[in-house]
Amino acid sequence: METKEVIYNGESVKIFGTDNPEEILVRFTDNITAYNKIKKAVIADKGRLNAAISAMIFGILEHRGLRTHFIRQISDTELLCRRLDVIPVEVIVRNVIAGSMASRLGLEEGLVPETPVIDLCYKNDDLCDPLINDYHAVALGLLTKEELGAVYDLSTRINDILKPLFGKAGIVLVDFKIEFGRLPSGEIVLADEITPDNARFWDSATGERYDKDRFRRDMGKVGDAYRTIYEKVSEIAADI
Ligand code: 5GP
Repeated sequence: METKEVIYNGESVKIFGTDNPEEILVRFTDNITAYNKIKKAVIADKGRLNAAISAMIFGILEHRGLRTHFIRQISDTELLCRRLDVIPVEVIVRNVIAGSMASRLGLEEGLVPETPVIDLCYKNDDLCDPLINDYHAVALGLLTKEELGAVYDLSTRINDILKPLFGKAGIVLVDFKIEFGRLPSGEIVLADEITPDNARFWDSATGERYDKDRFRRDMGKVGDAYRTIYEKVSEIAADI
């Protein structure tokens, strides 16, 4: 497909305009970065695996009646998506304590909270995406109180759909980061991606990690981990 202007030139994802002003093209690459791009590498085939993983997960969510920006996969590494007015808030849903929540609160990784935890972060690279609360989000004009309600509701629904599906496939959906945007109608829909780049997946039986932590923490076998999640999501999607 012919692309137009570059909308976002990230390391692991690049977004382009298309002939249709209402649609964008999301291209996944083999690049991987961590710690605000201080650590970088190339993982062969990651772009293809992530495009397929995100397409299948968004397809499952759409099938369950949850609106996303995903339209269809158009090549091995490219998805056609709806153009949205993206809300500059990262929403992190946590079923198990890990990563920054563990270190910030001095908790052991692997602890299961009484209820899932939802964090909001202000999407701002210069500030390293700081944690904010509801009042900050509304006071900064990032979204309205009503939109915030919709974001929490959708985030919970996404978790309620995905957590048991992964559970059945032997994978703990530890946490994931998502973003939302507004359609021209004002409706809030899921944007971004759900892949091992922005979610944590642990093997239910062994605790083995199949996500970007393998790269962040120099654990090796990064590509194998992404392939495992590709295979698990393929199994889940085939069952839907
Ligand atoms: P943590 O808060 O532990 O760093 O991250 C929680 C979850 O959100 C992890 O699955 C992590 O991969 C994801 N996440 C948090 N911030 C970002 C971000 O800026 N970019 C991406 N791709 N994922 C993030």
